[in-house]
Amino acid sequence: MLIHGKCHCGNISFSLTWEPDPAEIPTRACTCSFCTKHGGVWTSNPGGALKVVVKDPSLVSNYAFGTRTAEFHICVRCGIVPIVTSRIDEHLYAVVSVNAFEGIDPSLLRCAPASFDGEGTESRLARRKRNWIADVEYVCSMME
Ligand SMILES: [Zn+2]
Repeated sequence: MLIHGKCHCGNISFSLTWEPDPAEIPTRACTCSFCTKHGGVWTSNPGGALKVVVKDPSLVSNYAFGTRTAEFHICVRCGIVPIVTSRIDEHLYAVVSVNAFEGIDPSLLRCAPASFDGEGTESRLARRKRNWIADVEYVCSMME
C-alpha cells in the first residue's frame, strides 16, 4: 500500500510504502505535552519506506523540546505537523501523522494511547530505532 499524506496547504507532503498491505494501521495518540495541544496521532512501520517532499523549506519550522531528540516538522503556513523525525547514530528515523493521511479508509486505523513520559533518553532512542520508519528520504522540491 502506498499511503499519501500532506499538510493542509501542501507544502509538506509524504508517501509511505507499507508492504504487504496492512490489515490494520496501528496508531498512537501521543500524550506528550506538545501532541496533547495539537492532537498528534502517529504511525510508523519499521519496514516501510518514507519519502518526504517539502516545497518551501523556509515555511517549515523544526520544533524540538524536552530531550530535544525529536524534531516536529511544522508547516508555518498552515500549522499542520505531518511528520516527526529523530536522528540517531547519524541515521534519520521518522513517524507520520495519521491526521495528515489522504484517502485512507479510517476503519483501517487502530488507535491506542501512548505515554512515553518518564522514559529515559536511552530507552527512548532504542524504541525509536525498533519502531520508527528507518528508510527516510527528505527532498526539497523548490528547485524542480
Ligand atoms: Zn502547510
